[in-house]
Amino acid sequence: MSVEPGIPTVDNESIEDRLYTVKYEDPGDSHLDVTIPGICAEKCVTTDCVKVCPADVWREGEDGVPNIAYENCLECGSCRWACPHGNVEWEYPDTGAGVTYKNG
Ligand code: SF4
Ligand code: SF4
Repeated sequence: MSVEPGIPTVDNESIEDRLYTVKYEDPGDSHLDVTIPGICAEKCVTTDCVKVCPADVWREGEDGVPNIAYENCLECGSCRWACPHGNVEWEYPDTGAGVTYKNG
């Protein structure tokens, strides 16, 4: 059976549908940040944090410093390794908070 792209079905859920199945317990504080905002604003031309995040957590900000919607974070760690300037502060949320995967 062929599956058309972009149409959510049991076999082909959209990214948004998949993200909807993830539960997040908000610790009330971001576990993500940039170390030196000036590096983002003045040195970074690739914004890899924005490009690599599968959950749209990192979003380009008007001042060149990304906005961080930490509540969507899947804790995959990709942004930490993608930043060419080592400018991502990354830690797990406090115990009991953060992401829970419904399907394992
Ligand atoms: S990739 Fe690194 S330096 Fe560039 S905007 Fe993101 S956090 Fe800042
Ligand atoms: S850890 Fe993964 S999901 Fe979370 S902000 Fe970084 S890239 Fe996005």
